[in-house]
Amino acid sequence: MISRTILLYLSQQHGLKNFFVKVPGFKQVTRRFIAGENIESAIVTIKELNKLGITATFDHLGESTTSRAEADADVNEYIHLLGRIQDTGVDSNVSVKLTQLGLDIDETYCLENTRRIVAEAHRRGNFVRIDMEDSPKTDATLRIFKQLFHEFGNVGIVLQAYLYRTEKDLDEVLAMGARIRLCKGAYNEPAEVAFPEKADVDANFVKLMQKLLKSGIYHGIATHDPRMIRATQEFAARENIGKDKFEFQMLYGVRRDLMLQLAQEGFRVRTYVPYGEFWYPYFMRRLAERPANVWFVVKSLFHG
Ligand SMILES: Cc1cc2nc3c(=O)[nH]c(=O)nc-3n(C[C@H](O)[C@H](O)[C@H](O)COP(=O)(O)OP(=O)(O)OC[C@H]3O[C@@H](n4cnc5c(N)ncnc54)[C@H](O)[C@@H]3O)c2cc1C
Repeated sequence: MISRTILLYLSQQHGLKNFFVKVPGFKQVTRRFIAGENIESAIVTIKELNKLGITATFDHLGESTTSRAEADADVNEYIHLLGRIQDTGVDSNVSVKLTQLGLDIDETYCLENTRRIVAEAHRRGNFVRIDMEDSPKTDATLRIFKQLFHEFGNVGIVLQAYLYRTEKDLDEVLAMGARIRLCKGAYNEPAEVAFPEKADVDANFVKLMQKLLKSGIYHGIATHDPRMIRATQEFAARENIGKDKFEFQMLYGVRRDLMLQLAQEGFRVRTYVPYGEFWYPYFMRRLAERPANVWFVVKSLFHG
């Protein structure tokens, strides 16, 4: 069976996208995890989720840009998107990746780009979540997040339970009074910085989830793992923490059954809805999370 490590390696080989798009039917298969190539198709998806009582966060796919023109275009896309959210009335905020906004080019330039998006969201009463990427970016991502949180307030961060450093980061962000999305972590990280064993990642996730729920701040618990979800529900019940005091978050196309069940049980649920043409690394990371999904891809290609 093809392994997580190989799939994560392939996710960084951006040139392979050109190969995959030529495979007949491949683009259709990516639709399981990606809500289309433009804002309007993602809006249709989010409207349907909203009808089911589920909120969303838009993600315009993109990362690792080394071109200022591309980063500038992404800023404009997000500014336009924030306007479309308000105009259409969909219940959604936005998620951004800082390498999409020029972090690999220059940190100050990336800060200015991100500031434009956060300022626009602030003007429109919306919220920006800064995704967390691989560990060489953690410090810069936190610096930019903290700066913009102090300037505007309407911005939150993602922290990853697989990193040893996360508990310390989490304590610092909680002391600021900011909102956190807790996830396990999606990148290939060395044992020097991240727990290599899944059991240790899960144990850390539960420990950090408990700190978040007890903080009194509204956080996102981002996982499809039924054991993490149960641990969250049980802790909230034991500590008398209301269902409206936090939200579960899941990725579009993953465990929709569980998402609907949680919403029906009265929990708050948000779906991360990616759209855009830069789908390759995102799609490959989703396969890496569950290598059995490779069979879903192969079967779909052969059976149409
Ligand atoms: C809303 C949201 C935002 C995220 N943002 C970030 C981020 O900013 N940075 C970052 O590093 N990571 C991010 N992630 C990804 C996260 O770190 C994990 O890689 C991913 O969620 C898988 O971990 P898990 O908690 O679902 O548990 P796992 O232990 O990986 O999976 C538990 C179970 O969930 C199901 N499952 C999980 N993934 C899939 C899949 N792809 N396809 C089908 N079933 C699946 C399977 O049933 C699996 O057995 C985000 C995840 C979510 C839900």
